[in-house]
Formats: sequence, structure tokens, C-alpha cells
Amino acid sequence: MKSRSMKQERIPSAISESNHPLQSAQGCGCDDDECCSAALETDPLTGGLSEAVYAMLKGIGEDPHREGLLKTPERVARSLRFLTRGYSQNPEELLKNAVFTETYDEMVVVRDIDLFSMCEHHLLPFFGKAHVAYIPDGKIVGLSKLARVVEVFSRRLQVQERLTQQIRDAIQNVLNPKGVGVVIEARHLCMVMRGVEKLNSVTTTSAMSGQFITSQSTRNEFLRLIKP
Ligand SMILES: [Zn+2]
Repeated sequence: MKSRSMKQERIPSAISESNHPLQSAQGCGCDDDECCSAALETDPLTGGLSEAVYAMLKGIGEDPHREGLLKTPERVARSLRFLTRGYSQNPEELLKNAVFTETYDEMVVVRDIDLFSMCEHHLLPFFGKAHVAYIPDGKIVGLSKLARVVEVFSRRLQVQERLTQQIRDAIQNVLNPKGVGVVIEARHLCMVMRGVEKLNSVTTTSAMSGQFITSQSTRNEFLRLIKP
């Protein structure tokens, strides 16, 4: 009797009916290996997220108990965990682990880094490309780490402006290069889907430091190299 009432306490009152959606889901069910395996590694007790999604479904007037929505709270919770996993990763540590001493002192550019993030104002995706450049001053970093830094900051709730600056600052702080340039071009579903702007509008932001600010020719070279 006592254990039964304790068990019921763990289930929010809004979903205390039998066969509720939070008891059933296994994985997110999508075809993407990376997403699904990563999702399965996360804590199955999704820290209140499932319950919040369940409440959201009710809030928009849906029936969370119909077949298609039964596993949705759990799935969305796992999906959100995946899309915000950047909170548990430290971009500067990630860079520090791949720094090498080198005398190469020309511009290093990695362009067209795929980027998927979520706007913190609407919790809707924005996505596009990031272009990252720096001019080494005795130290270089593994190229793939530049893309990883973009990813870690992207997997948090963001505004594009801050995301651009955070990428620049992380590279600047760890490598202390002669300069860093970051340009992001992205489409925001909060603009596109809500009809605020035209369907194909692209937002461009840039953040520079060092020679990318002081030298017009450096900046021009960077912008020329990232032109489509
Ligand atoms: Zn937005």
C-alpha cells in the first residue's frame, strides 16, 4: 500500500492515467545513427523534460494519448538533450588538447562548416554554415577541432551574434593567434516559419580579432576565400 502510493508520487498528476506516454519509449526512433546512439546514452529519466513536453501537447489542445503521440514526450526530451548537449562540453578544453607548435604563419581557413543550433527566443532551429579563420603565432590546432568548437557552441540555446563571438573568443583565448575571423550565414526557422521575413532570408554575422580588424587586406583575403 505504502510503496504503491510512493510510486504514484513520482508520476506527475497530469499523466497519472494508465498507459501514459512516459513509460514506453525506447530511443528516439530516428534513422540517424549518431542521434539515436547518443540519445540512448543519455539519462532515461529526462529531468522533467518529458513531463514538460506532455504538458505542452495538452497546452496546444492535442490528445497526448493518441497513438502517434504516445512516445512523443520521451522522444522530444531525448532529442532536446541531444540538441543541447553542448552545455556539458568545454570548447576551450577541446582545443587545448590539439594544439601543436608550428612556424606556419599564413592564414588558416576552414569554410562551410555545417551548423545547427536553436534560437533561445523561440526554441526553433537556425542552421547554415560557419567559416573560421586564424593566423597562427607559433601555435596551430587540429583542423577538425575548429569544426568541433562550432558544434559545441551550436548545441546550446543561442543567438547567432553571440555564437559567432564565442567561437572567435575560444580560438583567441587558447591559441593566442595574430587574429581570428568567424563568419556565420544561417536561416532561422523562427523567421521563416512565422512569416516575419521572406522564405530564403539569410542572416550573416561576423566576429573578428587582431589582424582581421587592423588589416583591411587580411579581412579582404578572408572574405574572398569564403565566397561561395
Ligand atoms: Zn527566434
